[in-house]
Amino acid sequence: MAVKKPSYNGHLTKNFGYQEMIKSSTADRLGISNDATREHVINLVNLCNFILQPIRDEFGVIRINSGYRSPALNKAVGGSKTSQHCNGQAADFESTRISNPNLAKWISENLIFDQLILEFYDGVDPNSGWVHCSYVLDGSNRGKVMTALRVNGKTQYKSGLLT
Ligand SMILES: [Zn+2]
Repeated sequence: MAVKKPSYNGHLTKNFGYQEMIKSSTADRLGISNDATREHVINLVNLCNFILQPIRDEFGVIRINSGYRSPALNKAVGGSKTSQHCNGQAADFESTRISNPNLAKWISENLIFDQLILEFYDGVDPNSGWVHCSYVLDGSNRGKVMTALRVNGKTQYKSGLLT
């Protein structure tokens, strides 16, 4: 698959396109390039194929809050240096049809994934926070499930889904 920068416009899977996976209002605002390398596009295809498309097939349209992040964009949004977003292996998303905790639960029971994190769900508003999920190509998906909470302004990660 040849990826011509910066105009690759193609579909990654039936319902997910490349532009949707690299779109970032922060990158637009700051004028940061957010094009993915060929290797990262292949990771995005797999992320869509094994995580996002099955969710789309089950629950309809989902909104991608953040997909691929170039190193410059990741720095601008304060992402972890080892973030799987930087490899095209992770996305943050939510659905209008199912709450974030229930979506995370469905993924944990139905899909093969590397890391699944219910991020910043406040325990009250079903739409608070979002779901982060990653997929790796080499068959070493760990199936790691976590919950990210903000405690006194700091992020804490707990094992499992705390809803
Ligand atoms: Zn994320």
